[in-house]
Amino acid sequence: MTWVITSLCQDKLDMACVEVCPVDCIVVYKGDDTAAFPKQLYIDPEECINCGVCEPECPWEAIYEDEQVPDVFAADTELNAKIVDVRDEFEVPERPDDIEAPSPEDVKKNKEKWSYDG
Ligand code: SF4
Ligand code: SF4
Repeated sequence: MTWVITSLCQDKLDMACVEVCPVDCIVVYKGDDTAAFPKQLYIDPEECINCGVCEPECPWEAIYEDEQVPDVFAADTELNAKIVDVRDEFEVPERPDDIEAPSPEDVKKNKEKWSYDG
């Protein structure tokens, strides 16, 4: 079992989750193939210890336990798992200083963008 970062994280990258992960398994892609790995964070399923502390820290509500990933984001479970094969192309990111928390309306609009009503 692991936790999964979904597409709701795309282009957000506030890194709130990174700060709390006790095993540094939340990573960002360093490469150029953003078609393969869109600009968001990923959880390495082989390192995740299933503690769940990242989930409540995510202001965009983008993190789910693998068994709870909404259907609309089902492909993200596989995408997070795929990083294991190319792990050296990922690194633990630094958190920027100038990130503002989204409003509830921002969070709602981001979910609508992905046709998710949860
Ligand atoms: S569940 Fe725990 S170990 Fe896994 S990514 Fe979240 S904070 Fe890290
Ligand atoms: S806290 Fe959520 S939105 Fe922010 S970087 Fe982590 S997964 Fe992405």
